[in-house]
Amino acid sequence: MTTHIDVLTSREVPLGGPRAMRVRRTLPQRHRSLIGAWCFVDHYGPDEVEQTGGMVVAPHPHTGLQTASWLFEGEIEHRDSAGNLAVVRPGELNLMTSGHGISHSEVSTPGTSVLHGAQLWIALPEASRDTDPGFEHYVPQPVRGPGWEARVFLGSLLGASSPVRTHTPLLGVELMLATGKSLEVEVDETFEHGVLLDVGVIEVEGTELKPSDLAYLPPGGRTVTITALEECRLLVLGGPPFGEAIVMWWNFIGRTHDEIVGFREEWQSQVVDGTQADGRFGVVDIDLKPIPAPTLPHVRLKLRH
Ligand code: MN
Repeated sequence: MTTHIDVLTSREVPLGGPRAMRVRRTLPQRHRSLIGAWCFVDHYGPDEVEQTGGMVVAPHPHTGLQTASWLFEGEIEHRDSAGNLAVVRPGELNLMTSGHGISHSEVSTPGTSVLHGAQLWIALPEASRDTDPGFEHYVPQPVRGPGWEARVFLGSLLGASSPVRTHTPLLGVELMLATGKSLEVEVDETFEHGVLLDVGVIEVEGTELKPSDLAYLPPGGRTVTITALEECRLLVLGGPPFGEAIVMWWNFIGRTHDEIVGFREEWQSQVVDGTQADGRFGVVDIDLKPIPAPTLPHVRLKLRH
């Protein structure tokens, strides 16, 4: 069976300001907002920190989502308003739950000379989007076979499972293949999947991907065949179609335009007006000035399905 594959190509976006390091974004796009509950995919590096300045993202807020940080190289210090301080390292999942509101900073560590990784967001469903903030860290044991190695950080694949509980069924896996290796991976046919290529050249179901491309595979397939034309590393993301319409703007996920306007006002009154010293988003213990929200567009924000 030939599965129809959509290849989403990336666009370059400055992270946290016009002079900041640049990332390659493949989600959301005009024609696709979600793959399962995955709603944001940024791929970056390998960057020489000496040239890019590394990652310096001052405190900023989130609502209604989880952030999953996955590094290939380098280290990032995470601090959040729930009191979590963590160093994000390659091969380790760091999952921050914003729930009803959190703020955090992300700064590459002084010892980092090369930074390379992915920043992913997960939309929270209605039943849990108002939950308390939280933070989890998990180091998956690699599983291996001839010509392949995988780290399953969320969900189950290739005989390995992550114990990290999610609010909707999810899959998140790092997979490395040797040159010439073709791997037929059994997948949950109720899931839609995304394959983000980090390095190398691959074919997904016969469709060639370049680094930073994100292949979209609709539900219904029982296997996904990935062939490495060159030694490669990639991420496989997946989940059942999210099924709820969301509004995404800046760092917020909500359900209506007016809800986002409210989140923005609460953040601005905390960091610009100073009228809410420690509101919905809390305060991050770091010597960096929080990032004020941009101006809202003049049109009402669209629901994304
Ligand atoms: Mn963030």
